Amino acid sequence: MPSLSQLVVGLKQSGIREIMNLAIGMPDVIRLEVGEPLFSTPAHIVEAAGRAAREGYTKYTANAGLLTLRELIARRFNQDYGLPVTAENVVVTVGGVGAVSGAVRAVVDPGDEVLIPDPGWPNYEMIVRCAGARVRRYPLLPENGFLPDPALIDRLIGQRTRALIINSPSNPLGTVFDEDLVRELVELAGRRDIFLIADEVYEKIVFEGRHHTALAFDRDGVVIGVFSASKTYAMTGWRLGYAIASQPVIAQMAKLQEAYVSCAPSVSQKAAEAALSGPQDCVEEMRRTYRENRDLAVATLDEYGIRYQRPAGAFYLWVDVGCEDSHAFARELLQTHRVAVAPGTTFGPSGREFVRVSLAAQAADIREGLVRLARVVKG
Ligand code: PLP
Repeated sequence: MPSLSQLVVGLKQSGIREIMNLAIGMPDVIRLEVGEPLFSTPAHIVEAAGRAAREGYTKYTANAGLLTLRELIARRFNQDYGLPVTAENVVVTVGGVGAVSGAVRAVVDPGDEVLIPDPGWPNYEMIVRCAGARVRRYPLLPENGFLPDPALIDRLIGQRTRALIINSPSNPLGTVFDEDLVRELVELAGRRDIFLIADEVYEKIVFEGRHHTALAFDRDGVVIGVFSASKTYAMTGWRLGYAIASQPVIAQMAKLQEAYVSCAPSVSQKAAEAALSGPQDCVEEMRRTYRENRDLAVATLDEYGIRYQRPAGAFYLWVDVGCEDSHAFARELLQTHRVAVAPGTTFGPSGREFVRVSLAAQAADIREGLVRLARVVKG
């Protein structure tokens, strides 16, 4: 067989996937490793999509997506954040993944560098490497509440740095950046003339305070905001996300879609229109459930004196299990105690002593899974 791409062969397999595959083959496992909403897509969205398919929305759309959807997204940004976004500032992508990868590809050349969080969503590293660029991690330290430190990031920006990726609300930390921090990060990117890719796919899952979009502070056209229907409307399988940025950036990202995906699925675009224009109480209901799960989870860990980062958003809990190797810990927890969690090392070197627990699970499973985990930690 001819040799395969060294770049692709060299990509790491996801540690979450490994635990998931092991868990699937075992009986009676409490599954707290996956980052998938607990809910099914609301019925009115599914019905609208079925109707759209019957009406003929089964064909390619423009690379940037349906104009009707892009206009709806723009209107939502006017309403939610008071921002003068127009359809020209929107590209509809194949999930938030498509928006992050499109953004990275649009701004790097081979050998350039992209700053990503440690710990951070594992796909960032994969995406940056696939674009032929190099990854540089900036630390999110416990002593700083696991938040980015703009002064420290400033020192990590080099000649070849083209972009900084930030993520609020954060996977895996559940941290939510306040307004000043978001503003500072946008100003830093502007001052150092790099792009700021702001992954805001969990924008609607915030428990305390509110979400601050980086787009609100963009004076220099450096922000590329990443959003998705996946988490907000429990639509992971529809593969529908979008990016918002200045018109020249969006034009390049839309052109690039031709090379990889042509466009987002047309029926999913119609489903997203129904999601955005329909009742929003489903969003509130999901948020309330994740918050209740958060409260139950932290109360359980407090009972046992286990340390964790209290999530203010998203649906993950970053738990300090004080182990030498969180990958070995997660395997052991699964094999001996039948609880699947995501090993912290998957999210970066700083995750060695941590695991990520998903709060998108049934309350009883969260309680029982954390009790078992706590007993292992406390020996
Ligand atoms: N960004 C973060 C931080 C995520 O956790 C995810 C999914 O888990 C995504 C982006 C992309 O999700 P999707 O491609 O389903 O929109």
